[in-house]
Amino acid sequence: MDASATNAEVKVEKTEGAQLKSKKLGDLQLESEKLECLELEMGKIEDAQVRSENTEDVELKPQRIKDVKEEGPSSPCDLFDVEVVYKIAQELLLGLATACVDNTTGSVFQTPAMVAVDIRKEMVEYLTQRSEFFVAESSILEGGPGAEASDHPYDVISLLIDDFVSLKRNWFSRVSGWLLSEMREDRVDDFVQEMELNSFWLLDGRDTIAQTLLKNVDFKNMYHCNKRFRSEELAKHRRQCGFRSINCDNEGCAATFSAALMTKHDSTCPFKVSPCEQKCSEYLVRREMDRHCITVCPMRLINCPFYSIGCQSPVPQCMIKQHFYDNLHSHMLYTLQFIHKQASAEDLKQQAEQIEKSSFSSGLAEIQVVRFFVSAIKDIEEKLGPFQFERKHSDSVGDPAEEISKATNSRAPLSAN
Ligand SMILES: [Zn+2]
Ligand SMILES: [Zn+2]
Ligand SMILES: [Zn+2]
Ligand SMILES: [Zn+2]
Repeated sequence: MDASATNAEVKVEKTEGAQLKSKKLGDLQLESEKLECLELEMGKIEDAQVRSENTEDVELKPQRIKDVKEEGPSSPCDLFDVEVVYKIAQELLLGLATACVDNTTGSVFQTPAMVAVDIRKEMVEYLTQRSEFFVAESSILEGGPGAEASDHPYDVISLLIDDFVSLKRNWFSRVSGWLLSEMREDRVDDFVQEMELNSFWLLDGRDTIAQTLLKNVDFKNMYHCNKRFRSEELAKHRRQCGFRSINCDNEGCAATFSAALMTKHDSTCPFKVSPCEQKCSEYLVRREMDRHCITVCPMRLINCPFYSIGCQSPVPQCMIKQHFYDNLHSHMLYTLQFIHKQASAEDLKQQAEQIEKSSFSSGLAEIQVVRFFVSAIKDIEEKLGPFQFERKHSDSVGDPAEEISKATNSRAPLSAN
């Protein structure tokens, strides 16, 4: 176990030395060749037995050039956007699963689980190295075909992972239409689950790598803090740093995010309690707001029961009684118009006034069902005596009395809504 770990450390140190020697872009190619030679050398030294038994314990923490260069009295804050790091950490597991599946598909001798340890090690080395050179690489490509590519660290690292995955494809996965098959997706999902079940490459470990990769590619410092402090001030800064991790305060919400994103999260947090959007007196969590507003909120708008005969203003459900009182006159006009389709507006108005003046009209505003309201009006009209009106259309036929009787006898095909 120790032998292997030491070898890995030695290798990391040598690698760093080599990287420091040449930082010029032109040397990139040469550099990777040197690294390959180094790796070959290391491979020879390693005892094959020891290696196969202990690969699980190999130190997977990648090192950064900066860590070596930036020694001094001050230290970096090194806090980062926790959500982005989490997303990258998840992508690492998915990338590894894909690489292992693509590497062994069609093989009768190998399974993804058998190659996972080795491929993970290769992947971490590959991503660390590519991410360190990312800034240089992207400046070469500037103005080139990749110029419009996103520089969000998650997108950048996802692309690097894709590059690695494509390097690990075996001949079968390259030629067989495998890459687009549904079976590939299923196998990858299964293997992700298998790794999770076996606690292979836990989130903590992936987080550390994700942080390093993020810092390497986030050259605009949008998703991590690169401020430097003397040790006595560092702790103080970290307690106030916008990237410090905080939990959502809203009851029931398990979200964790950087402090600077508090307002952004709060504005969309499904557990945020706020007053009803329709301004009833209730307070609700955001995720229940829509349902409340549509189904039970007393301020939800409904159609007036007189909608079908003409009252078309929407009314808040809790105001419907008041609406009947406030609109008794217009509801009566709609009803008279419905009963006496031939009557003029002026006649209907006079009839309505007559009904209102009579002693029979009390309690009309209490009637909330249109059908009952229509028969109540008809009853009152009977008690008041025949309603005389001029016909609206001069070409109408039949005598008025007959029209009235036809109208008043017509059944109201209505129902309240
Ligand atoms: Zn900071
Ligand atoms: Zn929340
Ligand atoms: Zn409400
Ligand atoms: Zn109405």
